[in-house]
Amino acid sequence: MRSENSRRAAVLCALALAGLPGAALARSPGGSSPASTTRPAAAPPVRYEIRFPNAAHHEAEVSVTFAGLGSAPLELQMSRSSPGRYALHEFAKNVYGLAAAGPDGEALSVEKVTPSRWRVARHGASVTVRYTLFGDHADGTYPGIDRTHAHLNMPAAFLYARGLEDRPIVITFRLPEGSGWKVGTQLEPTSDPERFTAPDLQYFMDSPTELSDFDERAWREPSGDTAYTLRLFVHHRGSKQDLDRYESMVKRIVREEKAVFGELAPYDYGTYTFLAGYLPWVYGDGMEHRNSTFLTSTRPLTDSADAVRDLGALAHEFFHSWNMERIRDRAIEPFDFAHVDMSGLLWFGEGFTQYYGQIAMERAGFTGRRDYLDGLARTLDYVVDSPGRRFRGPIGMSRYSPFVDAARWVDRTNAPNTFISYYSYGAVLAAGLDLELRTRYHLTLDDYMRAMWKRYGLTGTPYTLEGLRATLGRVTGDTAFARHFFAEEIEGRRLPDFAALLGRAGLLLRPAHPDRATLGGARLVVGDSGVRVASGTLIGSPLYAAGVDMDDVLLEMDGRKILYIQDITGVVSAHAPGDSVTLIYAARDGRHRARVALAADPSREIVPFEKAGRPVTDAMRRLREAWLGSEVSRGP
Ligand SMILES: [Zn+2]
Repeated sequence: MRSENSRRAAVLCALALAGLPGAALARSPGGSSPASTTRPAAAPPVRYEIRFPNAAHHEAEVSVTFAGLGSAPLELQMSRSSPGRYALHEFAKNVYGLAAAGPDGEALSVEKVTPSRWRVARHGASVTVRYTLFGDHADGTYPGIDRTHAHLNMPAAFLYARGLEDRPIVITFRLPEGSGWKVGTQLEPTSDPERFTAPDLQYFMDSPTELSDFDERAWREPSGDTAYTLRLFVHHRGSKQDLDRYESMVKRIVREEKAVFGELAPYDYGTYTFLAGYLPWVYGDGMEHRNSTFLTSTRPLTDSADAVRDLGALAHEFFHSWNMERIRDRAIEPFDFAHVDMSGLLWFGEGFTQYYGQIAMERAGFTGRRDYLDGLARTLDYVVDSPGRRFRGPIGMSRYSPFVDAARWVDRTNAPNTFISYYSYGAVLAAGLDLELRTRYHLTLDDYMRAMWKRYGLTGTPYTLEGLRATLGRVTGDTAFARHFFAEEIEGRRLPDFAALLGRAGLLLRPAHPDRATLGGARLVVGDSGVRVASGTLIGSPLYAAGVDMDDVLLEMDGRKILYIQDITGVVSAHAPGDSVTLIYAARDGRHRARVALAADPSREIVPFEKAGRPVTDAMRRLREAWLGSEVSRGP
């Protein structure tokens, strides 16, 4: 939750008292009546306006008026982080021409205090701030403005006043004349199609907005004894038929994920919106929000394989409407826009969501059993074999997110050796726990997710590590198991025993190429004088043991001159794991000669017992089908 229901009801009430357009539509997301006539006079809303007189050059003109001010200095802040992002992004770098004025247009003095903060020390009751915003990077984090659209992530576009975060917000999007643009957003509409409202800054910042001539679809999706409106707004260059087909695919994913929780999340204002930009000039991303998701991809819907890949991102983000947006970690609630937000529980918020997004794609029939199992095997290769686990467990990996979540660095890090993505790590833990619950307790991971949903999601109470542990104990009725699981796999670094767990589903986990020798994974590129190592080498790999580092050039192996990558694979494939070869390579301090002991290719495969000539029982087949088959077609 971004803000608790009770608080949201209060600010919506303030909106109603302010007599704003749209106030009549305001209602408590929790469903209770916000009406109150005894409340003291509400603070006036913060009013934003954005125009696009120079969209060709990616500029927008923003104005924001703060009224009802006291005498304290007005502190203006441009966000440094964005909901769902965990690195600092310093959005102030694309803000310029900033000026402040009083109610009669008189110029006010503005002092720059920090790279992202300005101060208006002397002012009257109302201040209007104007600035130019540049943005040409449409994705889940940054704005993209051009003649085709204004793709706005709010923290990257709109500054705010510190201390006024609880005020309601009114924003007017001045759409370019004749552009055909519409407004796509989870913000609350008013009777003016260009004007929208938010109950407070947390909700406003969480409400990305797409302004373009997007194509739209909407349907009512039943949930328990009610129904919600789901909207699919897609800015793309495909046909109506492409979007019709995509809409039917999206519905299958929605229903498969709804089956996990047994109901949709209670969307504020009764509506959830998919905001998608599938265009050549966007940057691939997906970002979750409370009642919407911002999806960007250069893959068009015209190609059915591309559409399935776009759908995979959508499946992940939609699952967040339960897990992350409402089942929410206390560490990131409320979200701090001026600092980095750090969570130690992203292995659950992102990792378990990763697992469910992928399994929903399989259950809805978009992946194919073989591809799903291959994907799981690749994820196991990465998580099990990565040296990162020597340094951090899932909590430590989650806390590393400020350094890897769409972050860019000048200097190299040793992340390939010390970090494992909490998406993959968490997905592996989820798969293991799901199989464990199915075989040990005749429960499923869905039971755990539903219990988290009822305890934390529906009540708007952020959870902690202790809450995750206690809920697992309650669901299984086995607190010793829950304690052990968290001690070993979450606070410790143990991984599930996948060979045993998959075996119960009649699936054999085995080395895919046990006889194949390898130097260990490193990126190799052909250079002028040999083959250059273009990535760090991994701890434990033959190249690492031989002292080979990034940018070293491999010159000779087994007496054979190396000019192409095939020269290396030729030598390695002629050997068995455990054999040694002589390697001559150039490093920054000169030439080195090393004996390299080749390793066995560690990659795995997961094959059905039937294909491996092993007996399969009915119980194994039932478990496999219950795990990977559709939960929608099976029914409750
Ligand atoms: Zn995610």
